[in-house]
Amino acid sequence: MQYPSQYIEKAVEEIAKLPGIGRKTALRLALHLLRREESETESLAGALLDLRLKTRYCSNCHNLSDTEICAICANPAGMLLPFA
Ligand SMILES: [Zn+2]
Repeated sequence: MQYPSQYIEKAVEEIAKLPGIGRKTALRLALHLLRREESETESLAGALLDLRLKTRYCSNCHNLSDTEICAICANPAGMLLPFA
């Protein structure tokens, strides 16, 4: 399918790589983003980048974490303090 914009085409191509998303849904999502405020798309793009670049696995227990050592492993007592 030919789109009137190379940027729409590229966005559809990338969104359609996500599991369960076909090109028709990808186009619908891309057109939705075009109708919303620019700040919403910037926020979505930022969240996706942060997810991919900043989320890691705890080097001790291999659970998902924002830090090298997760909060559970970082607490030597093995308990999270309720008001820490
Ligand atoms: Zn851990």
